[in-house]
Amino acid sequence: MNSLFALEGKTAVVTGATRGLGQGMALGLAEAGADIIGIGYSDQAETKAAVEKLGRKFFEINADLAQQDKLADVVQEAISKTGKVDILVNNAGIIRREQAENFSDSDWHDVVDVNMNSVFKLTRDFGKHMLENGSGRIINIASMLSFQGGLKVPAYSATKHAVAGLTKSFANEWGSRGVNVNAIAPGYFATDNTAAIREDKDRNDYITSRIPKKIWGKPEDLKGPVVFLASESSNYVNGHVLCVDGGWMSS
Ligand code: NAP
Repeated sequence: MNSLFALEGKTAVVTGATRGLGQGMALGLAEAGADIIGIGYSDQAETKAAVEKLGRKFFEINADLAQQDKLADVVQEAISKTGKVDILVNNAGIIRREQAENFSDSDWHDVVDVNMNSVFKLTRDFGKHMLENGSGRIINIASMLSFQGGLKVPAYSATKHAVAGLTKSFANEWGSRGVNVNAIAPGYFATDNTAAIREDKDRNDYITSRIPKKIWGKPEDLKGPVVFLASESSNYVNGHVLCVDGGWMSS
């Protein structure tokens, strides 16, 4: 790996690395040389095996990120695995779909806890550890719905707008202290998160036709962007929301 992008000797925490985009980014970071700490609430065996196949270490932490009172312990457990966390990827997220007028309080709170409250707390607490070390990289996973409202997803859209805001807010305070905070806003990627809209032929056709590249993204398409934001190559990139969307935002 070119030294500008090399992550040898670094430890990266990735939330929601069991599958989908989190798994793709964990493998990208491992390919660049990082050891991985996966935080998730179901079995991470597949990602662990793939990371170890690349010759890197994988540490598994079982935690439900909806449980806000447990997050401080999760951060301490993660730091204790290797003694130093260099990179945090706040990837875990959920989506609930319902017409706005029928959107329930419980769906609202579930989405806000996982997509926004846990991102705030993990960023704050891992960030404090990084500030003590004088360096670190935090990469939050935003969305096209950090810019747009979407359909039937008011909580998801609200929380993804918040992720962009949190990214800029933390970046302003920490950039001069060695910790860069950025976000990746994926466009439309083929994962479980988007299975429902890919099954709706009209929406699938509309989305595919609007994407200038005319195809849905794949988890491995985030490997390069996440390694860029985690590595020396992006030293002067801070507070940025990087769209990786096949051109969706331009069309
Ligand atoms: P996914 O396939 O549904 O995977 C979601 C991941 O989050 C899984 O690893 C899941 O763990 C984990 N997770 C969910 N709730 C959790 C909780 N309470 N505690 C711990 N882990 C939890 O979704 P994805 O498409 O890869 O999405 C990943 C991120 O990208 C999300 O933040 C999503 O909003 C964002 N995003 C996705 C797209 C897209 O097109 N796919 C576009 C823009 C942004 P389990 O496997 O244990 O359930």
